[in-house]
Amino acid sequence: MTYRLVPTKLQENLSDGTVRCNLCLWRCRLRHGQRGFCQAHVNRDGRLYNLSYGVISAMDVGPIEDKPVLHYRPGSQVLSVGSYGCSFRCGGCHNLEISWGEEALDALARGQSKAAFAEPEQLVATAIQAGVQGIAFTYSEPAVWLEYVLDVCEAAKRAGLFTVYVSNSFVTDEALVLLAGRVDVLCSDIKSMDDAFYQRICGKARVSDILKCVQGAQDLGIHVETRTNIIPGLNDAPDNLMAIAHWIRDHLGADSPWHITRFFPAYQLSHVPATPIELLYRTQEMATEAGLTRVYVHGDKGCDCATENLPVDAYLGDPALLYAGTQCPDTCCGDDGILLKKYESTAGLAVQPPSTTSHN
Ligand code: SF4
Ligand code: SF4
Repeated sequence: MTYRLVPTKLQENLSDGTVRCNLCLWRCRLRHGQRGFCQAHVNRDGRLYNLSYGVISAMDVGPIEDKPVLHYRPGSQVLSVGSYGCSFRCGGCHNLEISWGEEALDALARGQSKAAFAEPEQLVATAIQAGVQGIAFTYSEPAVWLEYVLDVCEAAKRAGLFTVYVSNSFVTDEALVLLAGRVDVLCSDIKSMDDAFYQRICGKARVSDILKCVQGAQDLGIHVETRTNIIPGLNDAPDNLMAIAHWIRDHLGADSPWHITRFFPAYQLSHVPATPIELLYRTQEMATEAGLTRVYVHGDKGCDCATENLPVDAYLGDPALLYAGTQCPDTCCGDDGILLKKYESTAGLAVQPPSTTSHN
């Protein structure tokens, strides 16, 4: 059992020598040795690789309702799983060490990771052993390890399990098409209808991109449920919340489930109070009056948090095997593993002057 250096599925060689990653809407253009905004993809000699294929940051077993998903296989249990890296930098993220994940991803890039690794078939076997009916990709943005997600989805389908993709929906049309027919459920955030809100957490994100992705997923036959975490002072204006409700009603349908979750202070938003419960219920009432029939309030949870999970090896088994592969198995970097430009520089190995990552 060892880490795998897997080429990313959506990459494009450009005339200026960079390679563009087309997995999410950052569409990072990377030179040799550079990693994308999510930190999970690296350019090695003109080819992009996923650093986090099979690398597990967190795992848990629980009801599908906790994702939250209420209208797909209600009463079923899912194995939730996540890796490292995210395309956003939300100030109130509760899974910071996972989603921003720089320490873990740096270690992976240096071939010194101590993170757990599971082949897709092994993950599915773990799910079956745990007695669940589905697997949910969550905790950070699944688009950043899409190659693994797709392989797990195929193995899961063969085993009769369904799959849930919990996402910020900042993915390209090309990535969405890859998910169609493989992922059964998209549980997507619609964080705000205000571009300025999105641009604070992701310089390239626009509301229209997110909405296009959510609607595109539904048009492709994926079961969609949406979620808005209401953050006092940031996205709690009634006009904003009603604009989300109206958009869901008009584009996904009056019966499309909308989950309203409570914000709890975290990280850069530690000073922001938890969402008043009455605001959650007032929003539910207004959305119901506007015609949405499935509006749910989740007052006890702000996110699909991993902080209280058991250690990964509680599910995956023998730690001696799980953590055995600390070196990149590819031969391009010899025994040094996958070296980032900055580490090449530090070690005196740089073959070209450092240049910056471009997100154009
Ligand atoms: S941030 Fe998005 S575009 Fe950039 S490398 Fe990561 S997945 Fe690819
Ligand atoms: S809240 Fe979600 S989208 Fe935002 S940084 Fe965390 S994992 Fe990423």
